[in-house]
Amino acid sequence: MFKKARLKLTAWYLIIIMAISLSFSVAIFTSVDRELVRMDNMRKERQERVESMQEFIIERGFPPPQEEVNINLATLEESRIRIITILGFINASILIISGLGGYFLAGQTLDPISRMVKGQKEFVSNASHELRTPLTSLKTEIEVALRSKNMTLTEAKNLLKSNLEDVNSMQKLSNYLLELNRFENIENNIKMEKINLGKITEDVLQNIEQCTEKNNIKITKHTQTVWIKGDKDATSELATIFIDNAIKYSKKDGKVIVTVLKNGTLVVKDYGIGIADSDIPHIFDRFYRADLSRSKEKIDGYGLGLSIAKSIADRMGVKIKVQSKVGKGSIFSVQFPLNFPHEKV
Ligand code: ADP
Repeated sequence: MFKKARLKLTAWYLIIIMAISLSFSVAIFTSVDRELVRMDNMRKERQERVESMQEFIIERGFPPPQEEVNINLATLEESRIRIITILGFINASILIISGLGGYFLAGQTLDPISRMVKGQKEFVSNASHELRTPLTSLKTEIEVALRSKNMTLTEAKNLLKSNLEDVNSMQKLSNYLLELNRFENIENNIKMEKINLGKITEDVLQNIEQCTEKNNIKITKHTQTVWIKGDKDATSELATIFIDNAIKYSKKDGKVIVTVLKNGTLVVKDYGIGIADSDIPHIFDRFYRADLSRSKEKIDGYGLGLSIAKSIADRMGVKIKVQSKVGKGSIFSVQFPLNFPHEKV
């Protein structure tokens, strides 16, 4: 598809360049030709004048005039052909050079679009794949249950519990996809206002508290009031993703430390499974999940949290920093711009 588009674009570049080049060539040829004819006419006039005065000059004993070189019709035609050949050669060179250049430029122009389309395709395929797993499990369970003639109430409840897990999983994925779309879509405005990073972090921690109980994770917080410039929902989402991951990738009885620094930095530190150096450059890619074989239990996830975090950080003009050591833990931090008391947002 892009090969055809590249050829088409090259053809358009060529048409434009050749139209300009040919019109210049026609203009050059017409004016040079007109000049040649004018010079020929002038010489003819001069020769006629000299011829009419010849008798008078010879009578007075003046030296005879030098013979005028008359540009006859054949010479004129020869010059025309030579000019046309030169112009033809120039145009042919322009055609070849602009053809090659146009093909290269068309490739450069289409490359980001082609990469974007490829990314979109991959995204759709990954999203459908992730949706298919819980859907298939849901369908199979319901079909088996419908075929069973004597299902007990306990079995029915267990089935519904399992179905609910699948539904929750799909709901989580659709929420992630909506969030991703929300923060990646430039048309969705984010509101940069004066917000209290300490308070936002405390609120996130309060909502997250229940999840820590399962693995007995201890969260230590060092928060304080720090006024930053940012979007409230986006900042809260970013903090949620970092803290969620820190808990998720912590070992049993692990520890997570959440700190809000005076300079507007949010730091989330865990002592969990850590991330290999080779994975760090990819963890912000959509659907990327590092090899989790190091972890004893299965850790749920879609590999979308950090891509949402990256989109949020990009929209707010901040940078996420990651430090991690396999088996030792990770530190995710982001520094927001401060909002000084005298600054009105
Ligand atoms: P998910 O957690 O749903 O897999 P994310 O986009 O949040 O997706 O994270 C991408 C990957 O980065 C994870 O699969 C995991 O391998 C790694 N990762 C993220 N945060 C941490 C962390 N705190 N500790 C260890 N690995 C992490």
